[in-house]
Amino acid sequence: MKIDDYNFAGKKAIVRVDFNVPLDENGHVTDDTRIRGALPTLKAILEKGGSLIIMSHMGKPKGKVNPKMSLLQIKDVVAKALGRDVKFAPDCADASEMAAALKPGEVLLLENLRFHPEEEGKPVGIEKTDPGYDAAKKEMKELQKAFAKKLASYADVYVNDAFGTAHRKHASTAVIADYFKPEDKMLGYLMEKEVHAVDKILSDIKRPFTAIMGGSKVSTKIGIIENLMDKVDNLILCGGMTYTFAKAQGGNVGNSICELDKLDLARDIMKKAKEKGVNLVLGTDCVAADAFSNDAHTQICSVMDIPEGWEGLDAGPETRKQFANVIKDAKTILWNGPAGVFEFDNFTAGSRAIAEAIVEATNKGAFSLVGGGDSVACVNKFGLANDVSYVSTGGGALLEAIEGKVLPGIAAIKGDK
Ligand code: AMP
Repeated sequence: MKIDDYNFAGKKAIVRVDFNVPLDENGHVTDDTRIRGALPTLKAILEKGGSLIIMSHMGKPKGKVNPKMSLLQIKDVVAKALGRDVKFAPDCADASEMAAALKPGEVLLLENLRFHPEEEGKPVGIEKTDPGYDAAKKEMKELQKAFAKKLASYADVYVNDAFGTAHRKHASTAVIADYFKPEDKMLGYLMEKEVHAVDKILSDIKRPFTAIMGGSKVSTKIGIIENLMDKVDNLILCGGMTYTFAKAQGGNVGNSICELDKLDLARDIMKKAKEKGVNLVLGTDCVAADAFSNDAHTQICSVMDIPEGWEGLDAGPETRKQFANVIKDAKTILWNGPAGVFEFDNFTAGSRAIAEAIVEATNKGAFSLVGGGDSVACVNKFGLANDVSYVSTGGGALLEAIEGKVLPGIAAIKGDK
């Protein structure tokens, strides 16, 4: 079933969105990309005469109520974006009356799903290694089903538009789908677009295919790096990972972020790249700082020879040129993870050089996909989000989809779990 083909008139639609937006210390939304991303689906349902029950998580409250992660903080932003009033249900598991009272065109926002441990379905207060864990897990799975059933009871139709959590088998992203008939559940527009973008990267590759992986650690990116090795022509590894690779090759990395237990892994990646004929591009110079601060003193040095007490916080000028040269001739581009601590204005040059080269390639006809919270924040910061082919709202979900894994959130709707 598709949104365009469904008759929402007089129907209540429960829509899982990803409103896990960043907030400042006063609870104000600092980046509304995810809210804007869900608007086409939400507006279409309202325009077709439906009413909306919107549900999302925010942060990691670990099954407990935490006012700092309350969706009440974004209610007005959502209302403004939709151009209508939004009612608020302070407990997502106790909203039957409010849902039942909704009239066509009305909107109800449920409180953070993750205030209930049933959403994620992980047993609370017990470790995997504890004796009763299996029994506790089984019990929690039952509770999760009941929670999902409760959410489902609010509505006639279920729409999943939360790509950011599609890789999780949570109550609201997957389990809930069991309580709707096949013709009463569907993906939202954003999900459809995300799936299409992933498809282009997986099955419609124009070469050269260049992937740029950055961020802080090798360990969190290893699955995707290994997987990409079979697909890409060029693999640029940047950001904090640079220093693990430099150390693995005998370099002195000073205070730079470095995973000492991943040196063998780094050497293995280099060996595999050679075997597979992948052009692995690693930074050669960096902007080193004498403190982890925007105002630190800086110097340019080789990634292999960073003085004691200094740390590499951004790609150096040589590296930026080298990266840009590889990127600008690519025909398919995937970017995940910044090349430096881009949150500090003085350490954005590496990420900016990457973003600008991606835009140049895109203008020459390449398909470019930027995904993962931090790379998206980068293109937004540089005002270039509209100049790449597709900006994904998914981080982990995007990477898992590109690794070729079936995403539970999508499988639950398509029925192929
Ligand atoms: P990840 O969550 O692994 O994608 O990493 C994103 C984070 O990596 C951002 O917050 C960056 O500030 C950080 N990062 C990028 N380069 C470095 C670096 N050279 N040193 C420390 N952190 C970095």
